[in-house]
Amino acid sequence: MEKKIPYKIYLEEHEMPRQWYNVRADMKKKPAPLLNPETFKPITEDELSKVFCRELAKQELDDTTAYFDIPTEIRDFYKMYRPSPLVRAYCLEEKLGTPAHIYYKFEGNNTSGSHKLNSAIAQAYYAKMQGLKGVTTETGAGQWGTALSMACSYLDLDCQVYMVKCSYEQKPFRREVMRTYGAKVTPSPSMTTEVGRKINEEFPGTTGSLGCAISEAVEAAGSQEGYRYVLGSVLSQVMLHQSIIGLEAKAALDKYGVKADMIIGCAGGGSNLGGLISPFAGEMLRGEADYELIAVEPSSCPSLTRGTYAYDYCDTGKVCPLAKMYTLGSGYIPSASHAGGLRYHGMSSVVSELYDQGLLTARSVTQTEVFEAAQTFARVEGILPAPESSHAIKVAMDEAMKCKETGETKTIVFGLTGTGYFDMYAYQKYNDGVMENFIPTDEELAVALSKLPKVE
Ligand SMILES: *Cc1c(COP(=O)(O)O)cnc(C)c1O
Repeated sequence: MEKKIPYKIYLEEHEMPRQWYNVRADMKKKPAPLLNPETFKPITEDELSKVFCRELAKQELDDTTAYFDIPTEIRDFYKMYRPSPLVRAYCLEEKLGTPAHIYYKFEGNNTSGSHKLNSAIAQAYYAKMQGLKGVTTETGAGQWGTALSMACSYLDLDCQVYMVKCSYEQKPFRREVMRTYGAKVTPSPSMTTEVGRKINEEFPGTTGSLGCAISEAVEAAGSQEGYRYVLGSVLSQVMLHQSIIGLEAKAALDKYGVKADMIIGCAGGGSNLGGLISPFAGEMLRGEADYELIAVEPSSCPSLTRGTYAYDYCDTGKVCPLAKMYTLGSGYIPSASHAGGLRYHGMSSVVSELYDQGLLTARSVTQTEVFEAAQTFARVEGILPAPESSHAIKVAMDEAMKCKETGETKTIVFGLTGTGYFDMYAYQKYNDGVMENFIPTDEELAVALSKLPKVE
């Protein structure tokens, strides 16, 4: 008999995974290697170690080791906010009148308000172990910068954040959270780096972009002794750390004998989605089970649904290694949509390769339909979701409504990556009925795509 599922499924502390899972190990066809931006040859561990910490460079390049032990210090930090709950969305199911069973894995139960802390603490830890003084990074909407500043203050590391200028001005409270945790926050493009000065000169009055802040942070790390650059998504190492989301979700489902049919996540750089689906994709790759995996992206920044699978730069300044990924072109500047965490031109090379192999599908949704779903969700489930997370809510609700038509009792699991308290300006626009949708034309997309680097 089916056990009655509690509203929130909590794992015990000792049930928290002790290892991260690297889905690349189970992929027969591996993601394409990162390339050195100067030589266009596969980047070596030594070269990569000049940008990232040694241990993280190793994780980045390792596509054969399936499991990595989570160091005790990181597990201890995780225990402050993990295991995170898997919630049965009984109230949402009732509201929709669907026979589907809906679950969400909630990652917003920490001060940074998102899943990003899972990788921030890992990256800060390896920097500390290497004896570094500090790390530099970029932040767009501010979630990653906040997570990293929390992790760095815990480990007593210096943290320098280049924050996209428009967010710096629009989200002063995110900035203050970072400063409260001791981070130094600089609006980007700044005049403190060479690349920042160049961009300011070329585009006077620019309010910045993620790709440009990345270039500044990389330069800042390279020009200071004892500093390395860290990145909050896209990279395979980040997805590895985020596998804790999927491993916990799977453990919680297994505890009650529940088999998921469909797993849905929002996709910005792809790390939370990749982490959530990792153990399930692993089972698919090993031929043990089948799932329907769905990535959801904004129609204003549709890298999987309308991009090209090719080598591209990860940043505007073209200083980072090149990755083969679904991309809109590193010169693509997405419109000012409110899901800041999803405004990235490319997609994790692991997620891209899984998508190319047909293991997952992708959909794009407009921001007004996303906020409509967010509002419904907030009213019945209580949690005020982040705009990014609400992309997954929207598609989960769509799928639940399909079940209502067909009478199928599917089990739908989606990732609720975070809370939206710092996004009230966006909610205000929605509540006032003045939110607009931006869908780039094919011609607009073709411009940035025509400038992809020519890699043999
Ligand atoms: C950054 C962020 C995302 C995007 O995550 P990726 O792993 O880059 O796809 C989604 N939701 C929230 C709340 C975020 O902060």
